[in-house]
Amino acid sequence: MNTNCTYQTLSFDDGFGYIVMCERCRCIQLGLGCAQFHFDELDFRKFCTTVGEIYKESASQVSSDRATILLSSSFPSISLHLTIPEVEILHWMIEEADTTLTTNSLISLFSQH
Ligand SMILES: [Zn+2]
Repeated sequence: MNTNCTYQTLSFDDGFGYIVMCERCRCIQLGLGCAQFHFDELDFRKFCTTVGEIYKESASQVSSDRATILLSSSFPSISLHLTIPEVEILHWMIEEADTTLTTNSLISLFSQH
């Protein structure tokens, strides 16, 4: 993370948050409300998996209006409390970010040849 970072938007939801990635150092930033989280690519993949699992669980918990996402190991004391609709938006954003990441890596793969 430095001032030379050049961010590309991977996903954006007006009013909820954004996911951006630096084209130089490949660090990933997730912004939700007033909070900002930083990941490297590997941690982001783990976070995506966690959100995916919570999303699947929340789908079967129609009666509960709260779900909890525990964020990355580097800050064990920080946890995010999201409602199920918020988990759905976050899941959608992560899917979109993942698609963009995959598309980008395919493009760079082909442009090398
Ligand atoms: Zn950077």
